[in-house]
Amino acid sequence: MSKNLLLLGLPGVGKGTNAVLMAKDFNLPHISTGDIFRSAMANQTELGIKAKQYMDAGDLVPDEITNGIVAERLAEKDVLDADGFILDGYPRNTDQADFLNNFLKETNRKVDAVIYLEAPQDVVVKRLLGRGRADDTQEVVEHRINVAVSETMPLVDYFKKEGNLITINAVADEKNVYSKVKQAIESL
Ligand code: AMP
Repeated sequence: MSKNLLLLGLPGVGKGTNAVLMAKDFNLPHISTGDIFRSAMANQTELGIKAKQYMDAGDLVPDEITNGIVAERLAEKDVLDADGFILDGYPRNTDQADFLNNFLKETNRKVDAVIYLEAPQDVVVKRLLGRGRADDTQEVVEHRINVAVSETMPLVDYFKKEGNLITINAVADEKNVYSKVKQAIESL
């Protein structure tokens, strides 16, 4: 069976960390929209210049931009040739999820599992502030969490309804969380 996987959860919950380990263990391309935007910003490309104002404010980059870069990436040869992919940080709202489902359908693919890393808000806020990244000031962190709660968290029910949600408690240490993630993927 294919492994078209999504990582869902609040900012700072550990999606990136788990995605890197999953990519290595299961030999899957890791597609992080946040990484794509950060690298575009560092290279001052047109995409980076457009994305910067939203990222700096802790807002979502508009769907037409984000959906476009994901569609482009999912159509690349290395992704098509692999057993699947790991989407980290996408979709982040129900319109993006609808877009993704339709896009995958066009190429006879579907989302196989959604790994929801669950942790309370205060835990992720603490982690984000401790991370010290440029886009992680207190005000921006709080705004990002609010956006995630209102825009992204409805995806938990969205994918629960689709029947492919796997919930993993992400409060424990990294090693423990990842061992549960790994087990879940192995038993797909
Ligand atoms: P991340 O590293 O996933 O937390 O993403 C960092 C920032 O990139 C977010 O705060 C958003 O501004 C932007 N971003 C990443 N993924 C998305 C997405 N799926 N939709 C809209 N904006 C995104």
